[in-house]
Amino acid sequence: MVEKLNAVKGMNDIAPPVSAHWEWLEERLRVLMRRYGYRNLRTPIVEPTALFVRGLGEVTDIVEKEMYSFEDRLNGEQLTLRPENTAGVVRAAVEHSMLYDGGKRLYYMGPMFRHERPQRGRYRQFHQFGAEALGFAGPDVDAELIVMACDLWAELGLEGIELEINSLGQPEERQAHRKALIAYLEAHADQLDDDARRRLHSNPLRILDTKNPSMQAMVNGAPRLMDHLGMESLDHFNRLRALLDAQGIGYRINPRLVRGMDYYNLSVFEFVTTQLGSQGTVCAGGRYDGLFEQVGGKAAPAVGWALGMERILELLKEQGRLTEPWVVDVYAVVPTLAALPVAMKLLRQLRHLGVNATMHAGGVDGVGSMKSQFKKADSSGARFALVFGEQELGLGMVAVKALRVVQEGEQSQRLFPLDQAHEWAQSLRGA
Ligand code: ATP
Ligand code: MG
Repeated sequence: MVEKLNAVKGMNDIAPPVSAHWEWLEERLRVLMRRYGYRNLRTPIVEPTALFVRGLGEVTDIVEKEMYSFEDRLNGEQLTLRPENTAGVVRAAVEHSMLYDGGKRLYYMGPMFRHERPQRGRYRQFHQFGAEALGFAGPDVDAELIVMACDLWAELGLEGIELEINSLGQPEERQAHRKALIAYLEAHADQLDDDARRRLHSNPLRILDTKNPSMQAMVNGAPRLMDHLGMESLDHFNRLRALLDAQGIGYRINPRLVRGMDYYNLSVFEFVTTQLGSQGTVCAGGRYDGLFEQVGGKAAPAVGWALGMERILELLKEQGRLTEPWVVDVYAVVPTLAALPVAMKLLRQLRHLGVNATMHAGGVDGVGSMKSQFKKADSSGARFALVFGEQELGLGMVAVKALRVVQEGEQSQRLFPLDQAHEWAQSLRGA
């Protein structure tokens, strides 16, 4: 026998019925984006490696150890499966001069790739949905994005998602803080782990983000970036806070929130839950005013967030918010080969009228016993079986049999005239 091939570790197939939950979430997200005036941008899954090295920063987890990078065998180009999509969005905005006539509100969704240790809520191929507002400098758009995410949680019926915010200020302010921070960390060198020691001079801010429990106390006492912010940065932060307050949106200021990518400045934020174990961040983002220049474009302010779709679906499941997956309305039982063309024709008509219909099919030299057809009809999840029996067809009728619980006063079987589908199709349609 030929050896069985499996999916790559940490990369999952999403099959029915679970895929119906994905479609449901995707549709909710699209509807929300239309309400807020965000439009869809689709960029390639493969980008030049340099985009992420320059955009995300060389001393980041992603660029140091998580990227799927390879050389194109045919032309030697250095390519990477996108680990995130903000850099790609900005690359596309620059490439197509999207900001020539003002700011743009954009969204994307799709697979991202990071070589991490697979575990609950952490995969090597995972899916993000992201919203980006390009070309807007004021804190009002930061607030808009945060409000939009809060509306999404409400729309999905999710509870217990908490907002944390912080300000990273501007590069010069971070520079001043960095000096103070390095001095502090050097004074506590004996408590640094290997990762931290390596980052001490390259990216000390990221040490504050450590997940190592034995470093928490030391890190808690470190100089705070917030204390190094100038008037303008503080003003941006306070105006964001005031707008959130005015919308009744609660948040916690977390001075240690620094985010994984170098491109952030001013506002950063995360939405976290305690209900998903250690992978509790469901959505994260912030302002990245420097990124346009970093990828070779004209300077432009920008802000956005990305949510992890697997984590949102997991949380929906945890909170019992996943409704019955999509099922077909009717299943056509076709007792004879002679009935097949009639059944096909009527089903097409019903579908044009908005009914979701599956036809029994697949017999090579017959149609299969009624018993097996009804079994299939039952397991299809359909609420009705359409039975194209010889006798009924002779009368110009088709029998409709309820397969699920029959409401009081409702008949379990009725006859409908074949030539008047437009009159009764509606009664077969699900919600
Ligand atoms: P984490 O701290 O959990 O590694 P991150 O800071 O690397 O997250 P971002 O790059 O900001 O995450 O991505 C935004 C969101 O995408 C995260 O909040 C999370 O919901 C989701 N996400 C990130 N990495 C993964 C992954 N490997 N598997 C599943 N979801 C992920
Ligand atoms: Mg990560």
